[in-house]
Amino acid sequence: MKISIVGSGYVGVTTGVGFAELGNDVTFIDVDENKIKAINSAKPPIFEKGLEELMNKNRDKYKATNNYEGILDTDITFICVGTPSKDDGSIDLSFVESAAREIGKMLKRKDGFHTVVVKSTVVPGTTEEVVKPLIEKESGKRAFEDFGLAMNPEFLREGSAVDDFFNPDRIVIGVKDDKTREVLEMLYSPFNCPKLVTDIKTAEMIKYASNAFLATKISFANEIGNICKKLGIDAYEVFKGVGLDHRINPAFFRAGIGFGGSCFPKDVKALIAKARDVGEEPKLLKAVMDVNEGQPMRLIELLKKHIPNLRGKKVGVLGLAFKPDTDDIRESRAIPIVEELLKEQAEILAYDPKAMDNFKQLFPQIRYAETPNEVLNADAVLIVTEWKEFEQLDYKGKIVIDGRRVEKAREAAIYEGVCW
Ligand code: NAD
Repeated sequence: MKISIVGSGYVGVTTGVGFAELGNDVTFIDVDENKIKAINSAKPPIFEKGLEELMNKNRDKYKATNNYEGILDTDITFICVGTPSKDDGSIDLSFVESAAREIGKMLKRKDGFHTVVVKSTVVPGTTEEVVKPLIEKESGKRAFEDFGLAMNPEFLREGSAVDDFFNPDRIVIGVKDDKTREVLEMLYSPFNCPKLVTDIKTAEMIKYASNAFLATKISFANEIGNICKKLGIDAYEVFKGVGLDHRINPAFFRAGIGFGGSCFPKDVKALIAKARDVGEEPKLLKAVMDVNEGQPMRLIELLKKHIPNLRGKKVGVLGLAFKPDTDDIRESRAIPIVEELLKEQAEILAYDPKAMDNFKQLFPQIRYAETPNEVLNADAVLIVTEWKEFEQLDYKGKIVIDGRRVEKAREAAIYEGVCW
């Protein structure tokens, strides 16, 4: 099939390159010239394991442009633009709206049935109440008759996005008309996982309910972990025991300094805002966010237990990405931690294998180390992201406050885990 992808970030580029590997022709459309240049030179615009190899292998099956005319020669368009939070936590749909308008203008010029698929995470109702009228207005055509419209949420995880594309737990297809359903069933026919066909609003909600549940699991583990810490119990041992219950499942019980990233915080906040819109006060989801906000400061409190006055002290920060195997720092727990250290007038020396360039744009004023070993020379070290290579360091004789459970760090002279 001929596919166009609007928005070539983590989701767009992984999805597009994945579809190219499956034999489709892909056109990436983005407003960011740097991303277009990178893709056209077979360089991933983001860091993701295995992506560069796939881009090289499928070099003749994709191209990138900033011109929406790229859609004209395709059968399906995926909307994969960002859906960030507004200041009040509600979803900012401006990128989705502008993509929908541009797609509509192109559909006006295009003959034949074209399918538009919303893959961006959007609050229930968006595809039919925001995207549909904009495309209809610009194209002069009717959804579900002249053009297809679907919602197909994305569940890939940064750090294992390529693998997740080819081996998803499930594929959810939210549709209203048979023709669109057939197009998507054909596109996804190479996948053997369960495929769930729902109405459009349900597909939108499945994504939010999934992310909200995972975020809840983490905040639950952290709340239990905070109690464990006070009682001198290792939360990891506790959750090993808890996770063995088949009704519960061991995944996502990693107690620590909380979740970050481009999805969980913004999606939980957007769901809270949507709930309030319809007159529901979501008490549990609010508590999930409150617990999460408090976790990073526990790392600083533990540090101050050992060094009460941080002014002029050299504090090493190991890890800046919101999780290992990515260069993404959106909502990384490193951000509030570094902000607090700056307030305390500590001297910060930070290291991350992939995310330093991104972090430097936010915090040009702190020092960055070339190697993780340099960071170990600080007066104390905070572990903020659990990169595998941090398991190889020699922590003997150091003060280490660990937010992510790096086993090797337990050999430090003074070692504190945030929930253990
Ligand atoms: P991203 O910020 O990495 O990429 C978005 C891209 O869209 C950028 O390259 C931007 O330049 C481009 N863009 C913005 N406006 C545009 C426009 N009008 N026309 C063309 N391009 C435009 O975002 P992402 O992390 O890939 O997330 C995209 C969506 O997928 C979000 O809704 C997100 O919640 C969802 N999602 C993300 C993940 C993830 O792990 N990152 C996982 C599942 C779902």
